[in-house]
Amino acid sequence: MNSYLLKNAHLYINHQFENVDILIEDGMITKIEKNIESDVPTYDLKGKMVAHNFIDMHTHLREPGFEHKETIYSGTMSALYGGYGTVVAMANTLPCMDDLETIADFKKRVIKDGQVNTYTYSAITKDLKGKELVDMAHIVEEDIVLGFSDDGKGVQSDEMMDLAMQLASNIDSIIVAHCEDESELHGGCIHEGHYAKEHDLIGINSASEYKQVARDLEIVKHYQNRYHVCHISTKETVELLRQAKKDGLPVSGEASPHHLILTEENIKDCHPNYKMNPPLRSIEDHQALIDGLNDQTIKVIATDHAPHAREEKNKPIQDAPFGIIGIQHAFPLLYTYLVKKNLVKLETILDALTTGPAHVLRLEGDVKLGQKANLCIFDLDKEFVIEEDDIKSKSINTPFLGVKCYGKIVANIVNGKMTEMEEM
Ligand SMILES: [Zn+2]
Ligand SMILES: [Zn+2]
Repeated sequence: MNSYLLKNAHLYINHQFENVDILIEDGMITKIEKNIESDVPTYDLKGKMVAHNFIDMHTHLREPGFEHKETIYSGTMSALYGGYGTVVAMANTLPCMDDLETIADFKKRVIKDGQVNTYTYSAITKDLKGKELVDMAHIVEEDIVLGFSDDGKGVQSDEMMDLAMQLASNIDSIIVAHCEDESELHGGCIHEGHYAKEHDLIGINSASEYKQVARDLEIVKHYQNRYHVCHISTKETVELLRQAKKDGLPVSGEASPHHLILTEENIKDCHPNYKMNPPLRSIEDHQALIDGLNDQTIKVIATDHAPHAREEKNKPIQDAPFGIIGIQHAFPLLYTYLVKKNLVKLETILDALTTGPAHVLRLEGDVKLGQKANLCIFDLDKEFVIEEDDIKSKSINTPFLGVKCYGKIVANIVNGKMTEMEEM
């Protein structure tokens, strides 16, 4: 059971590629060598790429409370088909993940329905209201909780964030920050750039993000706590993070595939599938994100997979909710738009999907002998089109429908169990 031999794999291991066979016995990786012989079922990969399956440290699973958008089952099924072996759910559910009871209930649901390894963040403040801290010291004891995040909202009060970071430092946990200074918001729906101007839409300025990042980094200097910036979208944020890392602070940051691939120039017909928070920014911001990925300032790519039902998104851009789905096609899109266009090396993308987030969250992200098999198999040359019918999410809010991609996921092995998406 769960024993098989993968012949002729192009394996990404220890930050480089090797042509090897991989033996998996009882779900464990027991041999990585050339020319392995065994009588277990054998798959000839004919040089297909194999890597540790991906870790998404920013997924909205929507359950409990918003099951019409997504459920733990449908969200983790999207992850499985996207080559992910691990996701971390955001706390903005209903009820909010802000107490032990809700978190215990989430854990029960994950055991029943989770298709990949599923963790969650706890909220930082009760109901994400920014007024009262959750019981961080007790919540951190739960093994399903990997950190604290009020994602969806920035923590506005300086005193509250100061207290949260101090506690995070005491309990050696991480603050995963959605940075958004509400005093800079004026009801905008897309970036405050020329598209907003031309279409008479209210813009969201860059300062709403980087001002709060700058504030937080000052607090980190004081407590030296683990701190991670969500969905970086502005060039100023990239520079702040670069400097903080130079200063030796224990900080990290993520970029999402849509910010790495699209800019405000790509928005079409004021369509709400181009509306996300933070918004698609300018060409200069996009270049700064690519540079940040290439110089290791940004070591994590996280999807911010944010499902919304059709009727919710089917509104004028001003009224539609923020966010797009993204976990199922993150890799093929990144491969097609960044690697094939020579903007970013394949190794950099793979690191940002595996060892990068693993390092931040203290998980395993590299392929090692003796560990449970968590591997994904890809056909980099296989061309396909993203079709609505193939989407595993309950929602279809993505600007990438109908887009031609390369880098199809052929199979995903999660904790030794293989799911085949394509005939091997
Ligand atoms: Zn967010
Ligand atoms: Zn989010």
